[in-house]
Amino acid sequence: MAKSAEVKLAVFGRAGVGKSALVVRFLTKRFIWEYDPTLESTYRHQANIDDEVVSMEILDTAGQEDMLQREGHMRWGDGFIIVYDITDRGSFEDVVPLKNLLEEVKKPKNLTLVLVGNKADLEHARQVSTEEGERLAAELSCAFYECSACTGEGCISEPFHELCREVRRR
Ligand code: GDP
Ligand code: MG
Repeated sequence: MAKSAEVKLAVFGRAGVGKSALVVRFLTKRFIWEYDPTLESTYRHQANIDDEVVSMEILDTAGQEDMLQREGHMRWGDGFIIVYDITDRGSFEDVVPLKNLLEEVKKPKNLTLVLVGNKADLEHARQVSTEEGERLAAELSCAFYECSACTGEGCISEPFHELCREVRRR
């Protein structure tokens, strides 16, 4: 492997979008209904991606941190998942400001990012269409996934794996 086999991923997004649920689902294949929203956790995980073993460190941010800590998290990460909730337009509107902040902090490096629309099981309450998600991802030049941490439908592992691929491609 040309670069470090260790990939640091950080998950950002408005409180309540399901960041913790998504990370826990990815790691354990289980859904935790109530996960302490104030808890910030890092996890280690190994996965076989394209026949290579990749070690990930995943930071599940809690959104309780001050600006300085948040920038620290952004500096720490090699790749980022921005999550929004398809039933919460406000969380979708938070994506661009977050991306801008990430870009600012990572400058002059290019940002490695994927966009995830979570809670796809709540179709009846949807406020953000799949097309809007796709369009935003195209604007941000990043991969896009819709999924449900609750039912496990859609791509749960894919955003994590794709991010690892992109980080290591750089
Ligand atoms: P975080 O603040 O972004 O870490 O969000 P949490 O993971 O704590 O989830 C916030 C709330 O949304 C909790 O009540 C979860 O049970 C719920 N939730 C998370 N993901 C999903 C999902 O995919 N579908 C549904 N229906 N609820 C979800
Ligand atoms: Mg959380």
